[in-house]
Amino acid sequence: MTDRLACRECHSLHEASVQACPVCGSSSLSDDWAGCVIVAHPNQSDVAGAMIVTQPGHMP
Ligand SMILES: [Zn+2]
Repeated sequence: MTDRLACRECHSLHEASVQACPVCGSSSLSDDWAGCVIVAHPNQSDVAGAMIVTQPGHMP
């Protein structure tokens, strides 16, 4: 599970070879992301669900 790095800023996961987060540019990356991913995924689901509910007329 240490072949991925988690960004401490935006909680995205990246290949261990990256030097900085390609999403937000942060160099604060951690290979100890087991706790991060548990928190991050429900948050992303909530955001995605909220976006669908609040933007019913903007579906692609
Ligand atoms: Zn990031």
